[in-house]
Amino acid sequence: MKIPVNIFWFRRDLRLHDNAGLYNSLKSGNPVLPIFIFDKIILEQLEDKRDRRVEFIQKSLSEIQAQLAKLGSSLLVKFGTPLEAWKQLTEEFEIKAVFTNHDYEPYAKQRDAQVQDFLKSNGISFHTFKDQVIFEKGEVLKDDGTPYLVYTPYSKRWKSLLNDFYLKSYPTEKHFSNFLKTDAFEFPSLSSIGFDQTALTPPHSGEAGRGLFPPKKVRDELIKNYGNTRDYPGIEGTSKLSVHLRFGTISIRELARQAQALSEKYFNELIWREFYQMILWHFPNVEQSFKRQYDRIIWDNNEAHFQKWCEGKTGYPIVDAGMRELNETGYMHNRVRMIVASFLTKHLLIDWRWGEAYFAEKLLDFELASNNGGWQWAAGSGCDAAPYFRVFNPYLQTQKFDPELKYIKQWVPELDSFDYPQPIIEHEFARKRVLATYKIALG
Ligand code: FAD
Repeated sequence: MKIPVNIFWFRRDLRLHDNAGLYNSLKSGNPVLPIFIFDKIILEQLEDKRDRRVEFIQKSLSEIQAQLAKLGSSLLVKFGTPLEAWKQLTEEFEIKAVFTNHDYEPYAKQRDAQVQDFLKSNGISFHTFKDQVIFEKGEVLKDDGTPYLVYTPYSKRWKSLLNDFYLKSYPTEKHFSNFLKTDAFEFPSLSSIGFDQTALTPPHSGEAGRGLFPPKKVRDELIKNYGNTRDYPGIEGTSKLSVHLRFGTISIRELARQAQALSEKYFNELIWREFYQMILWHFPNVEQSFKRQYDRIIWDNNEAHFQKWCEGKTGYPIVDAGMRELNETGYMHNRVRMIVASFLTKHLLIDWRWGEAYFAEKLLDFELASNNGGWQWAAGSGCDAAPYFRVFNPYLQTQKFDPELKYIKQWVPELDSFDYPQPIIEHEFARKRVLATYKIALG
């Protein structure tokens, strides 16, 4: 006989604590079966079969599993397309209702619509909740009801709407007894879903090395000093929480409360994240330049230059340090992301979409909204972007933000030797070329 259950579907909210959709499912009356689906459609697009995001997900699911085991329950992990997985689930259980949290990416919206239709045709209700942001969709709009296109007025309105209600945690713990009691389900192994199990074992465990993910907690002290430290890649001046925000292994409400009490600057960065999520929701056509006239730019798109940029061999130490940090760890400091993105689009005149795709492949914290937003900001084509005539000078950026070359030397140890390459393009030539090229397109 099938067991009647309500299901909670984990996606980018991999935690039991302070989780909106989970909280609502636990209060829904039936025993709750938590599930996760390794989505074949997404996994097949990952070319690197050692992709550490899969490892991060697996690790986070194991943590959830350990917590559930203590409650006499278990997470059920499926592998397949979401529709295949839901077909199986409807055969295995008598599902009354499904609960999950909103995901604002175009693919996710289409997936959820499909799943909702399928469930509806089987008489199962589908309930979704806001969880990964404080304000979503059309909650922060201009007086005329249209979305903000500029960050500063958006952030002002965002702050004026904020009250304690929005920052309150969902006390899921109170209802943990409502998880379905069951023996542990076995997880599919990484190799069974197409990933290389042994390759994921860390080869070394230096602070910057593979194998370590940043901690989920950030010290109050760091947030307090954030305004003074955030721009210096050579020091531990930022929180490194982006991967946790991306996969929901921490709660945005908890972090926002901590930030609100300690640093306006840090709080503002969390609002940048929401700004880009909001833009993505209203303008999902992210393959185009937000400002359409930027799609008239004639890019140089030199593949050899692109390759050197990817490998961190441009002869510009700050750019190379950033790209090597990315290749080695899946992370790059924000200041350096801006520098390498400006260098690719402006010095090398390479289409921002190439850089965006490379970051999407490599960043552990990759998310469409912030990545597309960041790249279009750097290229000048974004809604609230750097002006097109602003061309970062990598040397001046280094003097300002890595004056002792601490960061650069960490990633480019051969800096002072003959092994280090000459610049692949001359700065002043590149600056003049991009200004002339952009002017023709935008003029
Ligand atoms: P902190 O400085 O400690 O900031 C705290 C949090 O605020 C971050 O974790 C992040 O969630 C948010 N935040 C900070 N800066 C920004 C910003 N400029 N835009 C949006 N949110 C921000 N961030 C991503 O999460 N995923 C991406 O794919 C991504 N791609 C980017 C691409 C480019 C070209 C650029 C310029 C920026 C990109 N960012 C992206 C934004 C930013 O660089 C990272 O969020 C930040 O470096 C993560 O490090 P942290 O957690 O130490 O940040």
